[in-house]
Amino acid sequence: MTNETHESGCSCPKGDRILTHTNRKPVIQTPPLIEVAKEDEPLYRKLIAEAKAACLEAYRPYSQYNVGAAVLTFDGRIYRGCNVENCGYTQTKHAEEVAITSAIVDGALARAQAAGLSQFEVFLAIAVYAPKGSDPWPCCNCRQSLCEFGFDMHVIGEGPNDSILCLTLGQLIPHPFPIAEVLASVRGER
Ligand SMILES: [Zn+2]
Repeated sequence: MTNETHESGCSCPKGDRILTHTNRKPVIQTPPLIEVAKEDEPLYRKLIAEAKAACLEAYRPYSQYNVGAAVLTFDGRIYRGCNVENCGYTQTKHAEEVAITSAIVDGALARAQAAGLSQFEVFLAIAVYAPKGSDPWPCCNCRQSLCEFGFDMHVIGEGPNDSILCLTLGQLIPHPFPIAEVLASVRGER
């Protein structure tokens, strides 16, 4: 492993303001994929198709990077989201957050509550599609956003050879900011 200071004449693109380099390869520990149950396959393929359709609607003048998402609610409804960028950059909305927001605006939480479910049981799965990406896993910001609604939802996407990649949200963010502890604190229970 070497770290070296960025200096003029290095191989970085002109204008690159990154200050240091490393040739150390990141160590990525990939959790084991979940095999999708046969009976879930048709619905999951539809969810991926919806995410693909949503990505075409992306507003991404700054990144040119389309992302589409589609969430499946406990009552079988599907809601789409796409990235919506902003010239202020930090105001940019990510596709996964838009999909979840769309579902909530349409009453998904209220329907779940009426059915006796908690907020952690509203969303069964989310599909993510980014044509320029290498896999469907959401960015870490979105993983935390999704954690507000439970860790058991499946995160899925298109894999090689027509396969479906699938992990639980809990596998993707094993140490999330702890909603249970925060809620307990708010209620004065700790
Ligand atoms: Zn994101």
